[in-house]
Amino acid sequence: MKRALITGIRGQDGAYLARLLLEEGYQVIGADRRNGEGSNWRLKELGCADDVQMVYMDLLELTNIIRTLEKYRPDEVYNLAAQSFVATSFDQPLLTSNVNALGVMRLLEAIRLVNPKIRFYQASTSEMFGRVREVPQTENTPFHPRSPYGVAKLYAHWATVNYREAYDLYACSGILFNHESPLRGLEFVTRKITRAVAEIHAGKRETLVLGNINAKRDWGHAEDYVAGMYLMMQQQQPDDYVLATGDSRSVREFVETAFRTAEVDIAWQGDGVDEIGICRETGKTRVTISPDFYRPAEVDVLLGSAAKAESRLGWKPKISFSELVQLMVEADTRRFGS
Ligand code: NAP
Ligand code: GDP
Repeated sequence: MKRALITGIRGQDGAYLARLLLEEGYQVIGADRRNGEGSNWRLKELGCADDVQMVYMDLLELTNIIRTLEKYRPDEVYNLAAQSFVATSFDQPLLTSNVNALGVMRLLEAIRLVNPKIRFYQASTSEMFGRVREVPQTENTPFHPRSPYGVAKLYAHWATVNYREAYDLYACSGILFNHESPLRGLEFVTRKITRAVAEIHAGKRETLVLGNINAKRDWGHAEDYVAGMYLMMQQQQPDDYVLATGDSRSVREFVETAFRTAEVDIAWQGDGVDEIGICRETGKTRVTISPDFYRPAEVDVLLGSAAKAESRLGWKPKISFSELVQLMVEADTRRFGS
């Protein structure tokens, strides 16, 4: 039986990956920085909370990582732990760097010391492309991160590549474009929107306040993306891969699609911070804009090409943008809609 250690087990991707690896017959060890005090809601929703063995491990503490690897002897380590919210990284750049950059160096050093045969997956991100140099972005596109989050992830990406080249580790960097699901954190724009749609539909609130609705993202479903992570770890040779859908939509389109799922047709009026989204039928204002949600530097457009992953791994996303939005609105309607 193969054994995998997943860091960030309580996060969105941690839950989907845990379920997939359990289905593949793995023993799954979940690294949890809160020593059992955090919420297990995602693993519970996927029905696998009792099948994951939790261990107390924080990426800030090297000795903790070394002891965990020595004790549990995993074959594969999937590093999904991070301060993952871009907006927070502007407020907490040092914490973000410590976890997202140095945390990865700690893990790589621990693997080198304890057992260099351990396979390693690093959760890299399209945020590394930032102010994009070409469209679509591929594994060969130059990087230009636009946030402390992106900068720290770029350090971790190069650390992963460097340890592969210098010490022959089986280390992969998955450059994943945004992926969402009903298990996405509420601070991300997609869940913020789908929750608001459910609450407005139920008469529990009037409006949704957003920032830059013209930003565009290549949004996929997390379930598809964790399957790509797993495939990257099963190859003869380690490598880096972009996972993306090739379909880029604006936040504005996400809002329109989500409200349409609840049979509300949104019309836009005004410009910039004065723009509002109103319900065509009732004339009620449903969306307003606040500069509080603008970022000091923005990533305007992301659009990825997963051609390499498709040809080498046979990976292709299955869930479309409209299906993703619908699944998220339906889940939030069940949670908040009554
Ligand atoms: P998420 O839901 O925010 O989960 C991140 C997890 O990391 C949380 O469970 C958190 O623990 C844990 N964590 C934070 N600081 C830690 C520390 N010091 N030590 C140990 N664990 C720590 O993120 P996600 O959406 O699943 O994403 C998974 C990974 O992929 C992240 O690295 C993210 O940056 C990266 N990524 C995500 C996307 C995307 O669109 N989702 C795209 C590209 C890359 P708590 O639960 O205790 O807070
Ligand atoms: P990111 O791509 O990792 O930063 O994912 P987010 O879901 O946090 O943000 C996606 C895009 O939505 C970014 O360009 C944000 O500036 C934009 N956005 C607009 N309004 C909001 C908002 O209210 N909250 C968040 N989180 N993002 C917003």
